[in-house]
Amino acid sequence: MQTQFPQTLTEAIRYFADHKVAFDFMVQLRWPDGVQCPRCGCKDVRFISTRKLWECKECKQKKQFSVRVGTIFEDSALPLDKWLAAIWMITNAKNGVSSYEIHRSIGVTQKTAWFMLQRIRLAMQTRSFEKFSGEVEIDETWIGGLARNMHKSRNKRRGRGTGGVGKAIIMGILERGGKVKAKHLPNVQRQTLQAEVRESVEPGSHVFTDQWVGYTGLRRQGYIHKIINHVRAYVRGNVHTNGMENFWSLLKRCIKGTYVSVEPFHLRRYVDEQVFRFNERKENDASRFLKVAHSVIGRRLTYAQLTGADQQPA
Ligand SMILES: [Zn+2]
Repeated sequence: MQTQFPQTLTEAIRYFADHKVAFDFMVQLRWPDGVQCPRCGCKDVRFISTRKLWECKECKQKKQFSVRVGTIFEDSALPLDKWLAAIWMITNAKNGVSSYEIHRSIGVTQKTAWFMLQRIRLAMQTRSFEKFSGEVEIDETWIGGLARNMHKSRNKRRGRGTGGVGKAIIMGILERGGKVKAKHLPNVQRQTLQAEVRESVEPGSHVFTDQWVGYTGLRRQGYIHKIINHVRAYVRGNVHTNGMENFWSLLKRCIKGTYVSVEPFHLRRYVDEQVFRFNERKENDASRFLKVAHSVIGRRLTYAQLTGADQQPA
């Protein structure tokens, strides 16, 4: 008897609550062509069903492995059904989901829920984008360390200095009718902004920005640059960044409403989360879930990476 793949959160929770179903799902997702040793790649493996482990017949040392090796679940003792339910929740909650909601819904501590969410966000990160072309909107915004100060970021046009203490600059690039890309930048200087444009946008594209001096000279670099005059209260034809504005309001609603306050170091993960949901907005819940579940494989996140202990905040 075949059970249908879940389409809603309630169905997903019920479906994966069967440990065998959750386990088989992960195995199938990871090794669609048959179980393979993660160390040597061979398929000569023996399943130890009592321990849910495999043993590689080729490897001399460390021959045993689980389905979690090398995934974001590797160092977690939490059962897969809780992980899969949490993935479903965060990939499909339009305004994000807080660690408190995860804590209440799936029965883990709030601290555990926080770590789960950070790991899942890593799987939501888009690693590579095709270069954007056609009509492309570019804009930046400031996001405050404290949500209650965030409304001030709307005033950024009055002076683009540093944006204030504890504020982070996010640059967004959006292909109209397509995807968005957003990145935490150290400043809004010409060099910084235009390097991002060159990396992300095909020359020859129509590029829409505001009047910020950091964007002058894009024409010389082969772009058809259209500048918005924010002083005027109307939109001049297709010269606007309304698509980007829409994305910023979604991002801010998510951070402000759900997460209350975000430290700058963690900000990029919340940005990645919103970018993912925005770019997958035309998909249904099940396919968004599957996409993230796929990415879980091969994206291990250590405690040090998570807390920033091994690197500079970026
Ligand atoms: Zn092996």
